[in-house]
Amino acid sequence: MLGEGIVKGMLETAKNFAGSFVSEERLTTVEYPEQRIPTAEDARVFPFLVYDGPDWEAGLRCVACQICEKGCPPKCIYIEKSKDKKPDYVGKMQIYPARFDIDVSVCMSCQICVEVCPFEAIKMNTEFELATGDRFGGLLLDRHKLARSNEYYHSIHPTEAAEVDARLAEEKAKVEAKAKAAAEAAAAKAAAAAAAKPEAPKSESPAAGGD
Ligand code: SF4
Ligand code: SF4
Repeated sequence: MLGEGIVKGMLETAKNFAGSFVSEERLTTVEYPEQRIPTAEDARVFPFLVYDGPDWEAGLRCVACQICEKGCPPKCIYIEKSKDKKPDYVGKMQIYPARFDIDVSVCMSCQICVEVCPFEAIKMNTEFELATGDRFGGLLLDRHKLARSNEYYHSIHPTEAAEVDARLAEEKAKVEAKAKAAAEAAAAKAAAAAAAKPEAPKSESPAAGGD
């Protein structure tokens, strides 16, 4: 029937409105901002950049690979690579983002940037109170405004952040084991080469006796 869905929706609203005077379960709204509904763990608003350790700038996980920039459908991520390198989370020297901006007035919260990032460097924030009167730049968030600690990530998405930590620890252990094996192999090769090297001929001793 045409309009059946609208009628059903209106009936549900009317039931909740009338029922809210007698039952708390029917009271589905709160007096925001004084009252707030707890944010769901899988809620997502706009992205943020994760950093490890106490220094946001040194600890950013992002290595400016620009995969997210290319994958972002509305093209609202702007990245400039650094000219120098710094160690990443496994200690490997990496380029980092000298500039990393997201225009959240354009972002559509699709989470594609999060899904394509190979470094667990960008995640979805749950902050939504971002209103500003500044239409020109107020919603263009730079890397400092986007940076949030791994502890913050744990506080808003505990299950997901714990899984990410476990995955990164596993990858780090693999990289360290590989580096250790390579160092041991190189040391063994050097020792074998030294053992196989022919001894240098001894210099002749001066002739005994003489004229
Ligand atoms: S959430 Fe989607 S639209 Fe927003 S920055 Fe990421 S990829 Fe772009
Ligand atoms: S956030 Fe991830 S995908 Fe985007 S540039 Fe940084 S490391 Fe690459």
